[in-house]
Amino acid sequence: MNESHVDFFVIGAGSGGVRAARMAAAAGARVAVAEERALGGTCVNVGCIPKKLLVYASHVRAELADATDGYGFRAAEPDFDWPTLIANKNQEIERLNGIYQRLLEAAGVEIVRGRAVLTGPNAVRVGDRELTADHILVATGGWPAVPELPGAELGITSNEAFFLRELPRRVLIVGGGYIAVEFAGIFHGLGSEVIQLYRGPLFLRGFDDEVRRHLADEMRKQGVDLRFGANVTELAELGSAIRATLTDGSTVDVDTVLFATGRRPLTEGLGLAEAGVELGEGGEILVDEYSRSSVPSIHAIGDVTDRLALTPVAIHEAMCLSRTLFEGEPTAPDHENVPSAVFSPPPIGTVGLTETQARERYGEIDVYTSTFRALKHTLTKNTEQTFMKLVVDRASQRVVGLHMVGPEAGEIVQGFAVAIKCGATKAQFDATVGIHPTSAEELVTLREKRPDSE
Ligand code: NDP
Repeated sequence: MNESHVDFFVIGAGSGGVRAARMAAAAGARVAVAEERALGGTCVNVGCIPKKLLVYASHVRAELADATDGYGFRAAEPDFDWPTLIANKNQEIERLNGIYQRLLEAAGVEIVRGRAVLTGPNAVRVGDRELTADHILVATGGWPAVPELPGAELGITSNEAFFLRELPRRVLIVGGGYIAVEFAGIFHGLGSEVIQLYRGPLFLRGFDDEVRRHLADEMRKQGVDLRFGANVTELAELGSAIRATLTDGSTVDVDTVLFATGRRPLTEGLGLAEAGVELGEGGEILVDEYSRSSVPSIHAIGDVTDRLALTPVAIHEAMCLSRTLFEGEPTAPDHENVPSAVFSPPPIGTVGLTETQARERYGEIDVYTSTFRALKHTLTKNTEQTFMKLVVDRASQRVVGLHMVGPEAGEIVQGFAVAIKCGATKAQFDATVGIHPTSAEELVTLREKRPDSE
């Protein structure tokens, strides 16, 4: 296929764009997708997948310590080689790039290599090729945002962190969101000295406050130098190192500065404004509940719309859009009770409302929490504590928020998210028999309500 008119033209072959293209093609549409970088987008190339591989690597040292401290293994101090890890990771990502290509080709989607620019409500240009389409989807994702400060160019973002030539001995991480805490865990676990700065009083704004405090305590116990109410004002070269000046006037000397200070929708230079597409203040494409922009033939999904910047959400939005446009079944994506995990050290798993949000929405709530040392660590020197929390609407007794900090939080909360999505009550949690001995069973055995005064 090398046509000048298609039913559906997708800009961006990331998680959302690829899924939309494949679903539309499966529904019988003629589809082309343009991509100027590697297939798979952020998640596959510089996000979820390589991040999780590095997170696995970052656990090994502590697991070896547990094995020798408590489980009778005798092992020498591990010798870690960063270039080997990065080479193995790169090989896996290239394999995934190939899988994405084959999936698109097998679905009959034409892959157009290059940067696509809108030239009208139904027209795009890629290089010197002009195409028209009944529907256009913008799924260009986001890009790391770096604050403007003297010497900022000496720092890197997550994009570059995945390809560092060597493991930095000292790392300064700026920011307090998902990416900042995940990279703090990766570098610390692999052996770097890590300082993490967050400009506010407590990182992970938007998460449950107890979860935030618990994670901060655990990270500090592990030896991450967390500094809240602190930011960087200037970076300067110091031989092969970088000297960072902080807001209190102090300085720190490090080998790498990682800005994890948010991501911006990638909408510049796409011809959006010229085509009449309305953008929000942060550059995001404004869409209605069916992911349609202010121009009826142009749609947008995923990070570029800045709704919920998560891969599975982009995929969900893609499937809803394909149903709406090509399967005769208008379907609005559902952004309620979306579970997520932060692969921090230890990880967070969360679904539903925080305690504060639940109090605002329902007024009276019941809160159940538990903090405990996992069975595994009764034999090790590891003092890690696991935290679990249920937030219950008092009137209906529905569990409206479930949060945990501890090993396998993502795996555990994924299952419980089904119960929350189904509107399960506390009594139904209690009627569920636990699996013993696990950490997860705690979530069905929480009996003591926190007194209202606390
Ligand atoms: P976030 O928006 O989560 O965090 C950005 C952080 O940077 C915040 O702590 C913010 O502070 C801080 N910040 C912003 N601007 C500045 C500044 N000028 N100076 C200092 N600090 C600043 O963005 P991330 O980049 O971490 O992640 C982007 C999105 O990607 C996430 O929101 C998430 O949706 C997704 N993601 C999901 C993952 C997962 O599911 N595990 C993993 C990684 C990313 P403040 O709070 O004060 O605004």
